[in-house]
Amino acid sequence: MDFMIDYPKMDDIKTALFIQPHPDDNEIGAGGTMAYLVKKGVKVYGLTVTQGRGGSNDPAITPEMLGEIRQKEAQAAMDITGTINLGDLGYHDQHPATHEQLVKDLVRVIREVKPDAIFTVDPDLPNEMHPVHIQTGKALCEAFMRCGQPYYPYEDNRPHPDAFSVKIIGFYFTSDDNTTVDITDYIETKMDAIRAHQSQMDEQQIQMFYSLFEMMAYNTPYKYAERFKLLNATLTHCFAVPKELKEKLNTK
Ligand SMILES: [Zn+2]
Repeated sequence: MDFMIDYPKMDDIKTALFIQPHPDDNEIGAGGTMAYLVKKGVKVYGLTVTQGRGGSNDPAITPEMLGEIRQKEAQAAMDITGTINLGDLGYHDQHPATHEQLVKDLVRVIREVKPDAIFTVDPDLPNEMHPVHIQTGKALCEAFMRCGQPYYPYEDNRPHPDAFSVKIIGFYFTSDDNTTVDITDYIETKMDAIRAHQSQMDEQQIQMFYSLFEMMAYNTPYKYAERFKLLNATLTHCFAVPKELKEKLNTK
C-alpha cells in the first residue's frame, strides 16, 4: 500500500543547517552525516547556541578563557567536516536565552540561510536533563513553525519579506529515529572532528563514541551509522505515523 505521507529523505536535502546547543554536539551527534552530505555537494552550515563556557571542571580555566578556546575548536571541527561556520549566538551560562529570544534568533538565521532542512538535538529524548539541550530543541521546533509566517515577530507589526518555510526538521540524539545514515566511510572524519574539541575530549571518550556509533548500526548492513528523526510540516502538528507503520516507512 502506498501512502501520500512519508518521512522526508536525507537525499532530498540540498542545503542543511545544523544547530548545536554547545560546540561539539553537531560533530558527536551528526558529524558523519554532515561529512557525507558535504561530499555529496550539499551546502552544510553549522550554528552554535552557547559558547560552552561551563564545560570545564578546572578552576584555573575561567569561563571567558574556555569560551575563546571552544570557539577555535568549533571552527577546527567544522573545517574537518567541510561545514560553513556561522558562529555562535553569544549565549552562555551567565547570559541564558529566554525561549522567545532564542526562537527569534533562530528564525533570523534560518531566514538568512534558507535551508531545506534544519537539525538539532531531540528535546523529547527520554532522560535528557541538560537544560540547554532541551531549550535548544524546543526553540528550534517553534522556529520551524514561525519562520514561514510573514508577520513573525508579531511585535514588528509588519510583514517580513524574507519569511521562509523550511521543508524538513531533523533531530539527532533521538530515541525515536526513522532514518539511519551509513557513516562507515566517514567515521574517521567524524572522530577527527570530535577530537578537534580538545578541551572536552580524551581518547577514552573517543573510543566510547566508536562503540556507540557501531551500536547505532545494529541490525543494518553498515559498520557505523548515525540515526535521526526527520519530519516534515505535516508530521510536526497534530498527526503522527501509526506505530505499526513506522518500521515500514523507516528510510536511509
Ligand atoms: Zn551539548
